Amino acid sequence: MAFTPDEILLIKNGELALKGLNRSTFEAVLLKNLRRRLKGVGNFSLRKSQSTIYVEPLDEWADMDEAGRCVSQVFGIAAYSRAKVVAKDLAAIQEAAPVYLADMLRDAKTFKVESKRADKTFPYPSPEISREVGGAVLSAFPHLRVDVHDPDVVVHIEVREAGAYIHTRQLPGAGGMPVGTAGKAAILISGGIDSPVAAYMMAKRGIALTAVHFASPPYTSERAEEKVCELLRQVSHYAGHIKLLVVPFTELQEAIRDNCPEELFTLVMRRMMMRIASTVAKNEECGALITGESLGQVASQTIPALACTDAVASLPVFRPVIGMDKEEIIRIARKIDTFDISIQPYEDCCTVFTPRHPRTRPTLDMLDRAEEAWDWQSMVARAVENVRLVRL
Ligand code: ATP
Ligand code: MG
Repeated sequence: MAFTPDEILLIKNGELALKGLNRSTFEAVLLKNLRRRLKGVGNFSLRKSQSTIYVEPLDEWADMDEAGRCVSQVFGIAAYSRAKVVAKDLAAIQEAAPVYLADMLRDAKTFKVESKRADKTFPYPSPEISREVGGAVLSAFPHLRVDVHDPDVVVHIEVREAGAYIHTRQLPGAGGMPVGTAGKAAILISGGIDSPVAAYMMAKRGIALTAVHFASPPYTSERAEEKVCELLRQVSHYAGHIKLLVVPFTELQEAIRDNCPEELFTLVMRRMMMRIASTVAKNEECGALITGESLGQVASQTIPALACTDAVASLPVFRPVIGMDKEEIIRIARKIDTFDISIQPYEDCCTVFTPRHPRTRPTLDMLDRAEEAWDWQSMVARAVENVRLVRL
């Protein structure tokens, strides 16, 4: 006998801001991302009809709670609901609606029923479905009153080709645009709190991510790299697959220590990162760089310091957390479950040779002079050449 699911998920992408992006591309990418995200959770069929995507389990092993959680992490979805599947039979719908929504109806004072008959062979028109189901709800919960303007609970009934569905409250989706609809960019990921949040925020705008991490062994440990992998695995629940490239950075850091004024260590290092990341990103067909910099947070994140790092980047640099307080960044880090990973104490290359008194108002002149007397060009080329792909 064919398997009939008890519940399904209905995804409404409703009124998307689709300026400049055509709807069919948007929906095709969204469906692909949803399929990939649901793969580990069970067998589902995904169907699109009008503006709704139906996620139907194909066997009894599918975990609907887990599927709901996955769907809530896919960008491009404003809201979704979980619905009861019933036979296309008015008496069956009348019986099922008060039972399925009992918890909500019990706590409500007012309700209304909204019906949609997409299957015109169903013998009852929408207003009649609403009236009949409304009657059944009232008999089951006599304390309720109908309020068509501002009800506490809206009972939705949809009669479609494949079956009838009962649902109510919409759950919030992750919003944003489907990952992959806005091109690709390289996230400079450190292991700190800010860069995973920056990655998440740009993925939300539809950007697919490649990650670039600078490692300086033996000053930084293998464990620090594993932490970056862990962070990226977490971000990929939202951002989809992320390719991680690790750049060997020791030679450059030691050369900076040996050749540059101490007060400029961090800035020269950041410029080297930007140069290397720009080339690596272009090789990976990325159109921009992303960092977790926040204005004024540390000496290298003042306006003059950022101007000096931007000057050597050959791609646009996106800094989605630039205007956020640490508290706001942490709130997002907690929401996406990267915070607890980020606060594990492993040395990052930024903390390897930290100047005691870093310059907060550097000029391009100072930096040009600091970079004049030694051959960083060949070291940058070597770093790019020796970039290592790491499986997450
Ligand atoms: P985070 O919490 O992301 O580490 P931060 O406030 O500690 O940020 P910095 O350490 O100064 O700031 O780094 C600023 C940004 O530079 C980071 O957000 C990240 O994008 C990038 N970055 C820093 N260190 C690395 C690294 N080892 N590899 C790749 N990118 C890095
Ligand atoms: Mg850091």
